[in-house]
Amino acid sequence: MKYISTRGNAPILSFEDAMLTGLARDGGLYVPETISQMSHGDIAAMAGLPYEEIAFRVMQPFMGDSFSENELMDAIIKAYAGFSHDARAPLVQLGPNHHLLELFHGPTLAFKDFAMQLIGQLFQKALGRRGEQVTIVGATSGDTGSAAIEAFKGLDSANVFILFPNGRVSDVQRRQMTTPVEPNVHAIAMEGTFDTCQAMLKDMFNDFGFRDGVKLAGVNSINWARVLAQVVYYFSSATALGAPHRKVSFTVPTGNFGDIFAGYIAKRMGLPIDRLVIATNRNDILHRAISTGRYDMDTVFPTITPSMDIQISSNFERALFDAYDRNGGAVTQLMGEMKQGGFGISQSALEGLRKHFDSGSSAEDTTSATIKAIFESTGELLCPHSAVGVKVAHDHMGTSPMITLATAHPAKFPDAVEAAMGIRPVLPDWISDLFDRPERLTEMPNDLQKMKSLIRERIAL
Ligand SMILES: *Cc1c(COP(=O)(O)O)cnc(C)c1O
Repeated sequence: MKYISTRGNAPILSFEDAMLTGLARDGGLYVPETISQMSHGDIAAMAGLPYEEIAFRVMQPFMGDSFSENELMDAIIKAYAGFSHDARAPLVQLGPNHHLLELFHGPTLAFKDFAMQLIGQLFQKALGRRGEQVTIVGATSGDTGSAAIEAFKGLDSANVFILFPNGRVSDVQRRQMTTPVEPNVHAIAMEGTFDTCQAMLKDMFNDFGFRDGVKLAGVNSINWARVLAQVVYYFSSATALGAPHRKVSFTVPTGNFGDIFAGYIAKRMGLPIDRLVIATNRNDILHRAISTGRYDMDTVFPTITPSMDIQISSNFERALFDAYDRNGGAVTQLMGEMKQGGFGISQSALEGLRKHFDSGSSAEDTTSATIKAIFESTGELLCPHSAVGVKVAHDHMGTSPMITLATAHPAKFPDAVEAAMGIRPVLPDWISDLFDRPERLTEMPNDLQKMKSLIRERIAL
């Protein structure tokens, strides 16, 4: 299995190299040259299997000979051993024909653990074999950073530096990044916003001398290996509800288009998915793109769903690549227009996108009201991101069972949940001492030279 760039002008790579590289050198995103197919019988045989077994069957065909079967199974088992629920991704019922897929039973209480824990293990195996060490640098608005730190802490193949905007992440998110004691973990509190952190990250990756010198590696949501790990729970949940014998639909709270793109891959592999519904908050560039055909950047409004406060939806480029019949030149042109503020999607590409995706958005007060209403009618406490999904799902109910993805545990966003309904969600027992642990972080100005020096110093130790 080979991987090509959405801009058509970067080296063709194996799964392992695409995973270690992250962003392609032409600025594009890696996608598989072909999508592996699952037959009706293959999918039917998944019903009732342990999550780990389904993960192996879904991901293995995409890996070529990058990992042996034993290596992959070992990585999967280690990745999910730290989850606090035996089903890993359990379903609960919210109402007639509506189910919630709880993706928050991992170590940092958000769905990003599913992908990050796995790629931590795969990085360790690939780099151990090569005798190499890499420097992982990531920018986060909260959940990605804690998931990356939790996945890579203590691994001898990597140092991990996470840039987060000082004072702009929740206390739980910050403490999840600053309390791990392992010396290969570096939490960096940057002056500025999430966009400042992301721009700094981009500058480091575009400085090829620095990039190659410290062996920079990226684990942000554009990494194909992360997308692939997220395809698995579409299969596990759909087969639990009767696929492939009947179709199911999904609603996915999204900003960067990573999670819902994984659902699209599941559908392309043969999973009978009826509708894939994009759910956004007030920062609704994706909803506007699907409903109007214009992809126009706006300013980012801060909301009670900070993990979806995004204007540039990186993974959407992968969907555009397919919608434009895999024409890298066309994608390069659109991304160039985006630098001027936006672009129009061609009529045929828009029709292609609408064949798979519906969309909707939820305003702040509606999101809060949904948290309250769902608690009152079911006893389930939603995080605000999941509530955006549930609200938009309600607007798109059809005849197929609807599965809404619950992307974080409510205790990760206690202020928003308390404001919505008066109950302050509590952390699960196993993490309840989070506020007693000492914190360790480095404050940094928005200065590229200083950041590069800091990284060089730390990895020389
Ligand atoms: C990251 C995140 C999202 C958005 O995920 P995408 O990769 O943008 O699809 C939604 N909810 C939570 C809690 C998250 O951490």
